[in-house]
Amino acid sequence: MICFIKKFAFIILMALVIFSCKEDQDNQIQQSRAENRKALGSSAEDLLSDDSYKSMTVEMVFSPAYRPTQQTLDAFMTFINARVNKPDGVSFIETIISDQNGPFSISQIRNIENEQRTIYTQQQDIAVYVYFASGNANSDTSTTVTLGTAYQNTSIVIYEKTLQEVTNNIQDDLTRLEATTLHHEFGHIFGLVNIQNDDIHPGNKHEDPDHLKHCIIEDCLMYFEAQSVTKDNLKGQMQRLKALQNIPNFDPDFCIQDLQAKGGN
Ligand SMILES: [Zn+2]
Ligand SMILES: [Zn+2]
Repeated sequence: MICFIKKFAFIILMALVIFSCKEDQDNQIQQSRAENRKALGSSAEDLLSDDSYKSMTVEMVFSPAYRPTQQTLDAFMTFINARVNKPDGVSFIETIISDQNGPFSISQIRNIENEQRTIYTQQQDIAVYVYFASGNANSDTSTTVTLGTAYQNTSIVIYEKTLQEVTNNIQDDLTRLEATTLHHEFGHIFGLVNIQNDDIHPGNKHEDPDHLKHCIIEDCLMYFEAQSVTKDNLKGQMQRLKALQNIPNFDPDFCIQDLQAKGGN
């Protein structure tokens, strides 16, 4: 009997030990992810300057049919390096997952990140997560589509299935639209435009009053049409992108100045 009680007590003790270990682990996981669970725009300075972080790791997550083109990834690397001060460099990591069932709400997109993201900010390396979704946004209608969304301080979704559909998978068009969407959403995690109400330009010179959080300059990367488009406008936009030769960039008068104010180039 005594032996039984001892055994029983031991089992309870072990259960407590295991349970508290599990709790510690969960707490540790939550803590280690806390830095990447902040509001959009709140890490702009950490991304742009070398004050807190000396390097950046961008994790690209996709299922095999939805990998962006190599040209898009190369252009993306050039784009980031041109803007950030990271003396220890910028690196890309690719994480391949299975197709997820769309269309997606943003809360579903957050759940996918919880399950699939493997790289979090640690020590002097700031981590960014980009999911190239295997489905459309559930807010799409018969006339408008969402191409991408920046929904947290270091989290972006690109609706790759949508991009492939609207470009009929023509590689040149697809690359142009992928790169434009990706750079535009990255501009949002850089804090553009006025995401944290900290625009350095007084008055309404910079932020478009008709399309908040976007730039008033029509050929700037942060002009609103780069994010969601009506299907009717999309043809025209693709033509404009083609005529530009290059992917749109930040306008030098407003957007670049805001980035420089936060330690970027
Ligand atoms: Zn936007
Ligand atoms: Zn601009």
